[in-house]
Amino acid sequence: MLGSMQGKRGLIMGVANNHSIAWGIAQVLAEAGAELAFTYQGEALGKRVKPLAAELGSDFVIPCDVEDLVSVDALFDALRERWGKIDFIVHAIGFSDKNELKGLYADTSRENFSRTMVISCFSLTEITKRAAELMTDGGSVLTLTYGGSTRVIPNYNVMGVAKAALEASVRYLACDYGPRGIRVNAISAGPVRTLAGAGISDARAIFSWNQKNAPLRRTPTIEDIGGSALYLLSGLSNGVTGEIHYVDGGFNVISVPTLDVLRG
Ligand code: NAD
Repeated sequence: MLGSMQGKRGLIMGVANNHSIAWGIAQVLAEAGAELAFTYQGEALGKRVKPLAAELGSDFVIPCDVEDLVSVDALFDALRERWGKIDFIVHAIGFSDKNELKGLYADTSRENFSRTMVISCFSLTEITKRAAELMTDGGSVLTLTYGGSTRVIPNYNVMGVAKAALEASVRYLACDYGPRGIRVNAISAGPVRTLAGAGISDARAIFSWNQKNAPLRRTPTIEDIGGSALYLLSGLSNGVTGEIHYVDGGFNVISVPTLDVLRG
C-alpha cells in the first residue's frame, strides 16, 4: 500500500508538548506503521517529549538545538549508529524573539533577524544536507510554513520573512536532491494553538478571523496536518517535490472576508 509507512524509519523534530504540530504528525505516522525517533530542545522539553515518544513505542529520543551544530552532528551520528539509514524527516522548528512578533516589521533588530533566519530557515538546509547522506534509498523531507510568507499577517513580521526564505529553500533543496530520489516539501498550516503560536501578539484574534473566514469555517487540527504529512512522507506523493501544500481550511484562497463578516 502506497500510504503505508510499514518498514519506514524517520526523525521527528519539533515536539514541545502534545499540542505541537509535530506531535499530530508523529501520531498519524506511527498509526501508519512508521518507526520514529524524536529530538528535543533542552532538558525541560526532554521531560515532556520522552513520555510522548514512549506512547508511540519509541525510546529513540535525542537532544538537538539547531543553533548548535555540534548537537546537530551528534544527532546524525546517533541516527547513523542505530539505524544506518533513514526514510524521512519532519522539520517543525521555528523561533523568533516574541518582543519582535508585535508592532512594526521595520523595527526588527539585526540580531533577532539573523537568529530567526538561522533557526527557522537555514536549519532546514543543514538538516536536509545531513539527512540526505542517510537516505540511501531516497527519502522525503517535510517542513512547516505559514501563509505570512506570501501575505502580510499583523505581528508575524520577521517570521513571515523567514518563512518566505524557508519556502524558497524547499524549492532549491528539492532540485538539489531530486536526482537522488529525495523529495522536499512544506505544509503551510493555518493557525494552531501551540507554544510557538502563542508567542505572536493577537494570536487569538487571528485564529478567530481564520475560523470565521476560511471556506471550511475552521482552523486545521494537528491531526488534519498529520494526514497531509502522511501523504507527503509516504509513497502516495512519490511524484511530488518542491511543493508548498496548504492545510488551512482554504483560507489562502479568499481575498475578502465572508459576506456575514463584511455585513457585520
Ligand atoms: P511548538 O512550539 O509546539 O513547536 C516549535 C518547536 O520548535 C519546539 O519543539 C521547539 O523546541 C522547536 N525549536 C525552537 N527553537 C529550536 C532550536 N534552536 N533547536 C531545536 N528546536 C527548536 O509550535 P508549532 O506551532 O507546533 O511549530 C512547529 C512549526 O510549525 C514551526 O515551524 C511553526 O512556525 C510552524 N507553524 C505553526 C503554525 C501555528 O499556528 N502554530 C502555523 C503554521 C506553521
